[in-house]
Amino acid sequence: MKVFRHLAIATLVAVPMVASGQAATPAADPRLDRLKTEALAAVEGKAKMVQEIVDMLFSFGELGFQEFESSKYLTGILEQNGFKIERGYAGIPTAWVARWGSGKPVISLGSDIDGIPQANQKPAVGYREAQVPFAPGHGEGHNSGQAVNIAAAIVVKQIMEREKIPGTLVLWPGVAEEQLGTKAHLVRAGLFKDVDATIFTHVSSDLGVSWGTQGANALISAEFRFRGQTAHSAGAPWRGKSALDAVLLMAQAWEMKREHLELAQRSHYVIPDGGDQPNVVPQTASIWFYFRHLDYERTMPMFEAARKMAEGAALMTDTKVDTVMIIGSAMDQHFSKSIAETMSKNIVRVGMPKWDNNDITLAKALQKELGVRETGLDTTANEVRAPNPNQVRTGGGSDDIGDVSWVVPTVTLRYPANIPGGPGHNWANAIAMATPIAHKGTLQGAKVQALTLLDMYLTPKVIADAWDYFRTVQTKDRKYIPFIRPIDQPAIWLNAEIMSKYRDEMRKYYYDPSKFKTYLEQLGIKYPTVKGIAQ
Ligand SMILES: [Zn+2]
Repeated sequence: MKVFRHLAIATLVAVPMVASGQAATPAADPRLDRLKTEALAAVEGKAKMVQEIVDMLFSFGELGFQEFESSKYLTGILEQNGFKIERGYAGIPTAWVARWGSGKPVISLGSDIDGIPQANQKPAVGYREAQVPFAPGHGEGHNSGQAVNIAAAIVVKQIMEREKIPGTLVLWPGVAEEQLGTKAHLVRAGLFKDVDATIFTHVSSDLGVSWGTQGANALISAEFRFRGQTAHSAGAPWRGKSALDAVLLMAQAWEMKREHLELAQRSHYVIPDGGDQPNVVPQTASIWFYFRHLDYERTMPMFEAARKMAEGAALMTDTKVDTVMIIGSAMDQHFSKSIAETMSKNIVRVGMPKWDNNDITLAKALQKELGVRETGLDTTANEVRAPNPNQVRTGGGSDDIGDVSWVVPTVTLRYPANIPGGPGHNWANAIAMATPIAHKGTLQGAKVQALTLLDMYLTPKVIADAWDYFRTVQTKDRKYIPFIRPIDQPAIWLNAEIMSKYRDEMRKYYYDPSKFKTYLEQLGIKYPTVKGIAQ
């Protein structure tokens, strides 16, 4: 997901008043203040654990559906800390659910764990330098979010045990988020059925939270496969029926369609199968699209239009549409007002990390390298962000946390583990992700997370208000309709080939915390390594 900044136009959004009759909801627990102070110190005490998790996942650099090392490592930590693990959740080999506690409320914590193709990059080096050239890497920063959740969960669990506070913690990974590949399947498998609230965490360069409709688009990811007939491309081309021709015509048809779509749409494609070699007329070919628009109602017609184009392209080339697969999807996002407002107070209390000169030097050097404004690092935590009315939504990235947000009150905590100004999905966005910038920003996120969990476990009103908003405002006129059809299954084969190509070489650089304090120490990289400063 790419995070976009938007103007807060709170005054344009009419939010109905909460219905009366809520007076019976119990107030905050008298222990709350004391326990929050204790939790802040306890999370600070997890700084080493946070650094190790962040660095370890960075060194694995695994792509979506192939997060085997990452999931093994994370579930190991959770198991050691008393969580019960269910592996292979929803038929996804790298998905898992970790549970601890009993009774209500049930609060789920999620965060993505997958990387970006060809984003492999030496951390702390302020210019392009791969550790393993062309290999995947954490060019989105998904190596940090689980550390936020795990550190907070362990601290809060210890407090709940001692204080006999009822409630359940449920942790889960966003597998293959870059393929928008699994959260709709987690919903379908029933993960959120008994969940009272979800806090999702996502890397950012700022510390903040939002409520209501946000900028992210809904999305359908679909692959269209064509089947033709092979022939010698020179000896008997008249006997061939080119599946690649169908792919090219379909792509061209979509370029024509683009002119007639509302501006907030995003659509893009790659050709995973374009044939084998030029002298063989391609018998098979495929084109993989992401269709994005503001909501379900606008995204679904893009997919339906593409289906017609596929049929047209097959007619024109005398080939057949072999399969149309939905291999990923995401609903647009709507976040909980009461949880966001509760979290926002904790954000103000925790504040931004204390950056030092090395952090700022790396940030400015990278910004200079990228030709963007040399602003360094964010220093002030953000106010809670109010919704954007549709007329100012201009479209953007997507995250399948949207699906979760339509079945249970949800917020996304953005925590400051990265440098502002990166293009996203790029090696530049990986540079900070195993440095003190990521370690400090992730720890700060974990503090906000722990405080917010305590608010939710000890103040029933937070969750009661969240459900009131969810029922009377968010889902008053709109219900969740998943994009995935009963026949659609998680695309667990994705990225297997790429990972098998690079894994052996990447394994040489897996982080070994028993020998090295940090991953930078293991790689022998000076912090920061930037142009113009003698090494
Ligand atoms: Zn993301």
